[in-house]
Amino acid sequence: MTLLDELAAELAERTSAGLRRQRRVIQGPQAAEVVANGKRLLSFASNDYLGLANHPRLISAMQQATQAVGVGSGASHLITGHHVLHEELEQALARFVGLPAALLFSTGYMANMGVVAALMGRDDAVFADKLNHASLNDAVVLSRAEFKRYPHQDLAALESLLAASRARRKLVLVDAVFSMDGDIAPVPEILALCERYDAWLMLDDAHGFGVLGEHGAGILEHFNITSPRIIYMATLGKAAGVAGAFVAGEPVLIDYLLQQARTYIYTTASPAPLAAALLEALNVIRDEPQRRAHLRQLMSVLKTHTPRRWQWMPSATAIQPLLVGSNDEVLRLSEYLLTRGLLVPAIRPPTVPKGTARLRVSLSAAHSEQDVHTLINALREAEVVLESAA
Ligand SMILES: *Cc1c(COP(=O)(O)O)cnc(C)c1O
Repeated sequence: MTLLDELAAELAERTSAGLRRQRRVIQGPQAAEVVANGKRLLSFASNDYLGLANHPRLISAMQQATQAVGVGSGASHLITGHHVLHEELEQALARFVGLPAALLFSTGYMANMGVVAALMGRDDAVFADKLNHASLNDAVVLSRAEFKRYPHQDLAALESLLAASRARRKLVLVDAVFSMDGDIAPVPEILALCERYDAWLMLDDAHGFGVLGEHGAGILEHFNITSPRIIYMATLGKAAGVAGAFVAGEPVLIDYLLQQARTYIYTTASPAPLAAALLEALNVIRDEPQRRAHLRQLMSVLKTHTPRRWQWMPSATAIQPLLVGSNDEVLRLSEYLLTRGLLVPAIRPPTVPKGTARLRVSLSAAHSEQDVHTLINALREAEVVLESAA
């Protein structure tokens, strides 16, 4: 068998198992309504939680910066790619989350890989929630540290792993908001464990930054906590509406990462106009708290609908999963909604544990209350249709 035959056979297996993934081609901007594969759909599928991806102030900031400085950064940050706009953005991000220093990365995936691999090695141990994002898991494998996973949100299990560990350096690694469940990690309790067992705490706030906290500063503001042990990471392609990520913490940590994080060092700096758009995103997040208030209002409207057949999972964030259970049923539900002009993704194992297939509803400040009522009405219809088919 040639390599290509092997690959084709694997792809065919995926297809027959209904697991072959396909992309939708989007035209026009990200918004509540998108044109996907030529069809206009009301979308509950993006991470653009505040509706900033197509915000006029961000667009204008990026246009002006592009006129002024061009499109390409030309080199990595440590050669000649580090622009004053990157520098200003790092300072603004650190201030925004209330930590002393920050380092900008091109993506969240790269930030996670860079940080964990720079700080941890063979004699060290990483303690991770089983439902952490894939990029955090990959980061631990890359670091070669011992990988200790505990059941989702089970702090007693985390504590026994920490207590038993003889590792040189310990790092607790956790999603602040879990991406497929929308639930929030009990960060103050986890931090207390880190203090007791002298471990670092790295928080991935991809889904909290911009959304949680009175000013949208994320998980640290939500719990009103800070600590020199915290390594804070947030992405800038979700609520912030653009692209990229940053790590924030103590100046020594940030300086060390600048020297050692390979995904920072060996890659071209992102275009400076992205940094200009992100500086404006921070202003909008600060100036337009009504976006967060509207998002919270949409969550409560959604929860006024209590389906008979399925169940809303407990979530106080923009990610609102509807637990369906069976893979087959969640696919039929998602397909039914598509026929009604609604794009809501079905999430199945192995992305989530077996038997917990779900519809992942992502709300955005770009949605209107009417949009959420449209979704509720379609879910009511779907329930009738799928019950009569069952
Ligand atoms: C999206 C996401 C990432 C990756 O961020 P990118 O900037 O998209 O690479 C990392 N962690 C979590 C929890 C995420 O949801």
